Amino acid sequence: MIDSNFISKCKNIFGAENVLTEKADLITYSYDATPGIPREIPGVVVFPENTKQVQEMIFLARQAKVPIYPRGAGTCLSGGPVPLNKGVVISFQKMNKIIEIDPDNLTATVQPGVIIADLNNAVSKYGLLYPPDPGSMATATVGGSVAENSGGLRGLKYGVTKHYIMGMEIVLPTGEIFRYGGKTVKNVTAYDFTSLFVGSEGTLGIITEIICKLIPTPKYRKSMIAFFDKLEDAGKTVTDIVRAHVIPATLEIMDKVTIQTVENYAKAGLPTDVEALLLIEVDGMGKDSVEWEAENCIEIIKNNNGKFKIAETDQERDSLWAARRAALPALAQVKPATILEDATVPRTKLVDMLVSIQKIAKKYNLLIGTFGHAGDGNLHPTILIDPLDKDEMERLHKAVDEIFDVALSFGGTLSGEHGIGIAKLKYLKDEIGRSGVETMRRIKQALDPDNILNPGKLVPMED
Ligand SMILES: Cc1cc2nc3c(=O)[nH]c(=O)nc-3n(C[C@H](O)[C@H](O)[C@H](O)COP(=O)(O)OP(=O)(O)OC[C@H]3O[C@@H](n4cnc5c(N)ncnc54)[C@H](O)[C@@H]3O)c2cc1C
Repeated sequence: MIDSNFISKCKNIFGAENVLTEKADLITYSYDATPGIPREIPGVVVFPENTKQVQEMIFLARQAKVPIYPRGAGTCLSGGPVPLNKGVVISFQKMNKIIEIDPDNLTATVQPGVIIADLNNAVSKYGLLYPPDPGSMATATVGGSVAENSGGLRGLKYGVTKHYIMGMEIVLPTGEIFRYGGKTVKNVTAYDFTSLFVGSEGTLGIITEIICKLIPTPKYRKSMIAFFDKLEDAGKTVTDIVRAHVIPATLEIMDKVTIQTVENYAKAGLPTDVEALLLIEVDGMGKDSVEWEAENCIEIIKNNNGKFKIAETDQERDSLWAARRAALPALAQVKPATILEDATVPRTKLVDMLVSIQKIAKKYNLLIGTFGHAGDGNLHPTILIDPLDKDEMERLHKAVDEIFDVALSFGGTLSGEHGIGIAKLKYLKDEIGRSGVETMRRIKQALDPDNILNPGKLVPMED
């Protein structure tokens, strides 16, 4: 239980200036970026500055049987850092040092609270890049994105967070400190702990240090935008590009509702009468190979009845990407709340999924704008709703059930990058089956026998 004795012990560990107890402050930490989920106001929020404090917090929480909710920047879209009980929110806002950049080993060692964009600004001075780039990279932390295994706009060519984590320091739910991995390119010692802890959504351990893999920044880039009167043509362009063995760094799609909303919001000069647009960027170290890839893309766009525009200057390229990054903020201003899903299907099922989403929108009389990482088959159907409209909320829940149903029937997955958290917990069994859920429970119980770390997320403890 969190009482005055517990709070004073927290102040002893962290210093009074790193402990929040005022209700107005606590309410802030009961939210992330996910609307319409259960939440509880935490009993206390603490800001560690080192691993030892995290360890002491775990010992204290275990003794008092109080749950701990780890938190980065709170941009999660599945309810990951949101407290479900009067527990402790442990925020990594102040554990935000870049410990080392090692250009010879192509690594950066960071504390979990480092903002992803800050890491990239720092390594860019060495001509290096940390590729995972969620749309939230200007605010999201490396720790939060490791715990979510976040993707981003460069996923098709460069992969996602798990591909760039070489080692970690973790405080386990028992309070033990566990370090694995390092700067070696190869390491097959023991179980593959990266696969276990990356994407564990704060349920198996608290990440206190991360060794990230870096790559040389590609020297050349070419960006283009393509417009299509038919969704089918846009979808075929995506598969044709990959079939031609061109792997763009970025291959993004927006449907008509999203294009119209972005244009209305950002006045980016997008045509509002087309069914879909693709944003494509090819990059690499060789000018000729980048040109070859761009020419191939243009040929394929033309063959699929698309119109296109190439960004000739950096400014033009930036405005193309600004239009893409405006998708969510633009949709979000239409109604009081947005439900952003990330159902993902094999690339060849992209159009079938888009058409199904349109049918679901019509069936339930909902406004759904869809955009996303077309090259990854990772779509973000964004449902615009008014949470006070009871009838609309009922239709919303039915529509979301159906979206996941359809995605799974196409051989897809519940989440390409936003995680399960609380938001998708009830669907987990539909994808991984009873034995999958049982396996997850066993892993959780083995590592966190008292169930104190982010309980109620990712692992359904009851049927
Ligand atoms: C506008 C917008 C765009 C987005 N675009 C993308 C996108 O393109 N791709 C994508 O994948 N996601 C995207 N997201 C989702 C979100 O930004 C990512 O999941 C992000 O990486 C979360 O980072 P965070 O620091 O905000 O973590 P939080 O939201 O604070 O936490 C996320 C999870 O990590 C856990 N956690 C945090 N720190 C630690 C730690 N030190 N140790 C253990 N567990 C920890 C939390 O308990 C929680 O379960 C977007 C969100 C928004 C609002």
